[in-house]
Amino acid sequence: MKFDTKVIRAGIEPDPSTGAIVPPIYQTATYVLEEVGKMKGFDYTRSANPTREVLENNLAALEGGEYGTCFSSGMAAVDSITKMLKTGDHVVCSDDVYGGVSRLFNDLLVNYGLEFTYVNSSNAEEVENAIKNNTKLIWIETPTNPLLKVTDLKAVGKIAKKHNIMYGVDSTFSTPALLRPFDYGADIVMHSTTKYLSGHNQIIGGIVITNDSGINEKMKFVQKTIGAVPSPFDCWLTLLGLKTLSVRMERHCSNGLAVAEFLENHPKVKSVSYPGLKSHLGYNIAKDQMKGFGGMISMELEGGIPAGISLMNNVKLCSLAESLGAVETMITHPATMTHVDVPKEDRIARGLTDGLVRLSVGIEDKDDIISDLEQALSL
Ligand code: PLP
Repeated sequence: MKFDTKVIRAGIEPDPSTGAIVPPIYQTATYVLEEVGKMKGFDYTRSANPTREVLENNLAALEGGEYGTCFSSGMAAVDSITKMLKTGDHVVCSDDVYGGVSRLFNDLLVNYGLEFTYVNSSNAEEVENAIKNNTKLIWIETPTNPLLKVTDLKAVGKIAKKHNIMYGVDSTFSTPALLRPFDYGADIVMHSTTKYLSGHNQIIGGIVITNDSGINEKMKFVQKTIGAVPSPFDCWLTLLGLKTLSVRMERHCSNGLAVAEFLENHPKVKSVSYPGLKSHLGYNIAKDQMKGFGGMISMELEGGIPAGISLMNNVKLCSLAESLGAVETMITHPATMTHVDVPKEDRIARGLTDGLVRLSVGIEDKDDIISDLEQALSL
């Protein structure tokens, strides 16, 4: 099956008991056993649920992976991956990861003896130079949240293989419609399904996908042991959203490019970061490894912080909101919203200034999005 067919069909069979074309919501905590030791594949929904299983199989197929394990949020998925590590282990991580990920690493997991080194993973050499004897995981986000830095996944994949280190990629911004980290050597692909995959701001969720049966066993064990599982209804809503992933991503990409070009040529805009602009440092790599450049943009305005705040307060169509990847265009102030817990000095050091504005370009008519930005910038 081609990708566009897989999003609608892969892992989705008519319901065996009724033929329902849409997988039913198995909203049940438990399952009645026929006799002691004899069950129909399910015993308790924390361990497995038929609706969740359909979603896991569908997403694994889209990513080109063998196994998928769903979690109740993207953060629960990242945390569950780190449960494969032990005290004393070291992680090399992209320096511009989502603020919730660095909060998990720096404010929680360090207390359990894990060590983290942040590098500009756009430069693969920096990743290799940070590797130590105890490095057990390379964690890459590409493009990053919020600066849209791009990592050459193949180059990092070679490094991970050479040093025999587990290689995980947070591909939330790209989705399997645009990027396939397994083609470049990733052992794990993780998504916040809250974003493009569900696509309609309707759920919070996460998934870990792998081709490695050992990693899969550990993920399934963590899933049932910790119990950070999505509800059957949330899985069903995600499945519904996924049906239009291909067509939505096409529009996110075309709208994203149009808005980025508009902003780049606007006199009040100082700089724009969008991997699809030739001015972007990662343009060539993004062009090689991605099928499209996505809908995420970040920018700095000439007027600095007050101008950024004025823009965010004066948009009418764009929603001032925390999330991304949905059909609605959303505008965010990373310094006070998504990355509020990153210490100011760390933020500034990595280029995440107080004046940075992030846009998640939706799938409305691009002219309406641009007009809205234009009127807000003119004030
Ligand atoms: N990874 C990235 C790149 C994100 O942007 C986010 C959330 O914004 C997460 C992970 C965490 O996902 P969730 O909000 O579903 O826990």
